[in-house]
Amino acid sequence: MRSRGIGWPSVLALTVTAFVAALGAGCSGGSEGDAGRAPISPAPAAAATSATRAGAAAEIEAVLLDRAAAVVAGDRRAFLRTVGGDRARQLAWFDRLRRLPVGEVTHELGTVTAGEDLDRFAAAVHLGVRLDGFDPEPVVGERRMSWRRVSGSDGSRWVVTRDRPVPGQVVVAPWDVPGTTVVAGDGVVLVVDEALRSREPRLLAEAEAARRFVDRGVPGGLEGAVVLAFRDLRLFASAGLDLAEVRAHGGMALPVLGPEGEAVAVRALLTPAGLRGTWWRRVVLRHELTHVALWEKEAPEWLVEGVAEYAAWQGERIQRVQRAAGVAARGGIDSMPPDGAFYADPMVNYPLARFACRVLAREHGRGAPYEALAAVADVGAVHHDEVDAVLGERFGTTADELATEAGRAIARWFGVPAGA
Ligand SMILES: [Zn+2]
Repeated sequence: MRSRGIGWPSVLALTVTAFVAALGAGCSGGSEGDAGRAPISPAPAAAATSATRAGAAAEIEAVLLDRAAAVVAGDRRAFLRTVGGDRARQLAWFDRLRRLPVGEVTHELGTVTAGEDLDRFAAAVHLGVRLDGFDPEPVVGERRMSWRRVSGSDGSRWVVTRDRPVPGQVVVAPWDVPGTTVVAGDGVVLVVDEALRSREPRLLAEAEAARRFVDRGVPGGLEGAVVLAFRDLRLFASAGLDLAEVRAHGGMALPVLGPEGEAVAVRALLTPAGLRGTWWRRVVLRHELTHVALWEKEAPEWLVEGVAEYAAWQGERIQRVQRAAGVAARGGIDSMPPDGAFYADPMVNYPLARFACRVLAREHGRGAPYEALAAVADVGAVHHDEVDAVLGERFGTTADELATEAGRAIARWFGVPAGA
């Protein structure tokens, strides 16, 4: 399944609100016409101790730059220089990030919640982490950080006394979840929760194989994918996802936001329903990683899911088709489910979408489903008529005709007469 941002608006609102508040709190820099996204102006030379809150913010900004550089360089000593409390936890965070191919770290101060006495400071921070080979831009999440000013032989400086992600960051920064194991492999970063720790080596090998499969088979390939495998899904509720929906799917493709508040990548999630059996995991992983490869192609749900299914089942000796689809085909299928209805009946609609793509491939070649997706996405076709115009021009068919043909093919699969 591909989530098109379930729970996303709330996260986005939080981001924008925090920045508007930051500007209101007297942090320097930024024009008001910039939707509150303007960063704080570059810090002046860190030596000068400012007696104003804005000055303190600028000094803290400089500390965060040092901290970011230490994380990217993997320089534990330099990182430790920014730490002034909650040491074990901060170091654990640093060590987890060291396991990732971190190419860039960005910080932006958001809402300032304490900073009146000029020796202590607390604020929301937007932390961006870009993984080399995985993210085109930093993926931004929200944290709460606290600092205090300490005196040393080289004058006073700020250190971080507390640094915690706000709840709901499991998709953005799964490595921040206590108990998770992070491992980077061939084009895959895998994060497993505590319950799946013993299965991590095998899951990594399977995710790597699925990534290579998609890289070879899907136009445009797939250089890298972040894969989450969680047995305990409760955290995903705080990320704004519908738990019942997550549990019902073997996997999900979940978007993550960049500095401009727009989706910049998607993460693949493997749920307990997708972990059952080697063969089933392989199909689910290939399905979700196809979404990761093609996530920028906006199209109706049937086409997005149909292409992911089509790709995932390539070369499988055993094809699984849900019995419910056979029953529906026997009763007659003559239309493609519209967006909104697709996920309401997954047992019928996933096979239907897969067979619709198989019909396209049978009549127009193996690449036809990908071409259909790209063509529909290129013109931004959303409505039924617009999609049909593209399908008609390229393939001489319509979505409903494809559904009808797919229904007949499913009926034949089950050896029953098609009703339509
Ligand atoms: Zn899907």
